[in-house]
Amino acid sequence: MGFERAVVTGGAGFLGSHVCEALLRRGTRVVCVDDFRTGSVDNLPDDPRLGVVTEDVAKPLDLLGNVDLVMHLACPASPLDYLRTPVDTLKTGGFGTLHALELARRKDARIVIASTSEVYGDPLEHPQRETYWGNVNPIGPRSVYDEAKRFGEALTCAFRREYGTDAGIVRIFNTYGARMRPDDGRMIPTFVRQARAGEPLTVHGDGTQTRSLCHVDDLVRGLLSMADCDHAGPVNLGNPEEVTVLEVARKVVELTGSTSTIEHVDAMTDDPRRRRPDISRARELLGWQPEISLDEGLRRSFDRHLVG
Ligand code: NAD
Repeated sequence: MGFERAVVTGGAGFLGSHVCEALLRRGTRVVCVDDFRTGSVDNLPDDPRLGVVTEDVAKPLDLLGNVDLVMHLACPASPLDYLRTPVDTLKTGGFGTLHALELARRKDARIVIASTSEVYGDPLEHPQRETYWGNVNPIGPRSVYDEAKRFGEALTCAFRREYGTDAGIVRIFNTYGARMRPDDGRMIPTFVRQARAGEPLTVHGDGTQTRSLCHVDDLVRGLLSMADCDHAGPVNLGNPEEVTVLEVARKVVELTGSTSTIEHVDAMTDDPRRRRPDISRARELLGWQPEISLDEGLRRSFDRHLVG
């Protein structure tokens, strides 16, 4: 299915910039709406079919002309970023999602909302299916992100029920790849930066906590499949292969040929112990599953200068 003109909120960020590129490749004109709080203009492709609107999505969004797709990704995703400005994070997740939905409703466009595996909190069910309601601490520091995303999901469902907005929710699990900022605090860019500098790789806690890591090229394919259909979701998008944080650290040391050691530091507050998506729904509804192994994904990321 072809879209004529898409709005990508958060288009200058890590995932958003890959989404902009993928849409442009398909012949869609793209408007990136971003206030560059964690994104960069350097992430954006130089293409005359790409327009940029510098705007905070917590303010109402208005655009002239037709829009047939909204990909709503604007929101800081790294804990380091979203904990720096807790109130703004809640405003972005809440008002920002409201304004993206209002835009889609006015333009009669399909909208895909980027939610997160964090809506499952520290899960008591494993792996996580979309039917699981989650185990989130509503007053912990990380709740500014988790609860805003949960509110965003509720709002999206309300728009669908009350106004018939063609909205779909995807719950994204940890994703990595080129264009993550070396200092954004997320695990892979941090490990790569430390390994390249020959510094110890800092593992929180004992490192037996697990993550499931999806390469950005796989993820973007999933996001576009969700755009191309009219499913409401939520649909988990992530790599079901579970690895411990310690294994990831060792792999990064090995692949970068670094001499770094591994150092254990304090565990983070409300950091989930285990995270792994059940992607049966994505397989069934979208015919989607990841194809890139962690080794291959890490190699691609280093080749394309994940950091520095
Ligand atoms: P990112 O921080 O690299 O990108 C976010 C982009 O949104 C940046 O360009 C930033 O400037 C912009 N932005 C943030 N708040 C804004 C606001 N109020 N108004 C306008 N622009 C704003 O993060 P990312 O990793 O690319 O994540 C993108 C989306 O995917 C987020 O919604 C995030 O919650 C979701 N997500 C990402 C992951 C992941 O592993 N990367 C996992 C789960 C969910």
